[in-house]
Amino acid sequence: MENLFEIMHTRWQKITDGAYALIFSTDSKRTTRIARWMMTAAVYAICLLISVYAEQRGMTQRTAARVLWAYIVLGMSSLYFFLRSGLSERTQDPSLAFEQSLFAVIAILISYFTFSEVRGVILILLPLVLVFGMLSLRPAQTTWLSLVAISILGLSMVLMSAKFPQRFPAHLEAISFLMLGSVLLMMSWIAKRIDNLRQRLREQRAALEQALERVHDLAVRDELTTLFNRRYMQQALANSHKQYLRNGRVFCIAMIDIDNFKQINDTCGHQAGDEVLSGFASHAQDALRETDILGRWGGEEFLLIFPETGVLQALAVLGRLHACIGQIALSATAPELRISFSAGLIQNEAAMESQGLLECVDAALYQAKNKGRNRTVVWRAENI
Ligand code: GH3
Ligand code: MG
Ligand code: MG
Repeated sequence: MENLFEIMHTRWQKITDGAYALIFSTDSKRTTRIARWMMTAAVYAICLLISVYAEQRGMTQRTAARVLWAYIVLGMSSLYFFLRSGLSERTQDPSLAFEQSLFAVIAILISYFTFSEVRGVILILLPLVLVFGMLSLRPAQTTWLSLVAISILGLSMVLMSAKFPQRFPAHLEAISFLMLGSVLLMMSWIAKRIDNLRQRLREQRAALEQALERVHDLAVRDELTTLFNRRYMQQALANSHKQYLRNGRVFCIAMIDIDNFKQINDTCGHQAGDEVLSGFASHAQDALRETDILGRWGGEEFLLIFPETGVLQALAVLGRLHACIGQIALSATAPELRISFSAGLIQNEAAMESQGLLECVDAALYQAKNKGRNRTVVWRAENI
């Protein structure tokens, strides 16, 4: 029994899923557009029901009501066809907001002349359509819609009051026309203001995003070299250690220190020193793989993390860097100046947390300095 219920339930689910996909499609954006169309269709359905009632009460002529029916049913079916088939996606606005608004404006105008007795109420719907339009239309389109509505309405009012002066007295029509005309023109003006507000919001949002990016950069980057700063590198080191514990991925770190940097400052000036630091940073960055993480540890010291790299590979990279950096002019202020650096290198070990690694790599760097600089020393417990 329970099994039967389950089978029925799955079948029913399949049928409803199939029907949903058939009506709305499987594309999420298209589904949203069709859902909006459905909401409008529901409003039209209510209007058509009211028209049936009005017809029964003799408030409208049969032919006029039929024209309204045909207009709404044919128009709405065509709109659905364009939305569901994806043809609307070939246009500038796939939701067909302007077309749907224009369609609604004309439907309201037809209703106005169809239900002569309650026509005043129907005109209230016109500004409503424009309010909806404002949310997705450009201000020029809203103005255009207002002008179309005013022109058709004015022209039809003149014709109707000339032909049926009893049902459409000229003075009443004129008052309605002037009132509605002013409201619609006012709404075009409001649409323009709303568009300006939206534009300003967009600009503010872009500025805010840029500011956030800048704040983020300030938090993780060093200003002079634009490399990652010490705080970021500490985090990166801790992450590498965690990944090693989780996946067993080994990594190496190198502490790099520019040789005799104080002398550069003293002989060539602080400006030259700064140029050397940023020049070294950009050349070193270019020489590394994208996955390697280079940061300024402080002063003329740089920390380099080689993820998923053994000590021999890291040693080779540093060797290449030693060779190339010694031949490049890094400072425009002192173009003859050439520099070298010393480095300590270590491969991580399970027992060593970030702090332990940093202490050992510092010890290796110290040894590189003692051995005469311009070299890399790999940390080994027995050597230190
Ligand atoms: P060693 O080869 O032993 O490393 O000698 P060194 O002269 O490079 O090392 P020391 O620690 O004696 O000097 C480092 C100098 O770096 C001292 C400091 O004024 C300078 N320095 C630190 N930060 C900056 C900076 O941002 N710009 C400049 N121009 N100099 C800096
Ligand atoms: Mg130093
Ligand atoms: Mg130094």
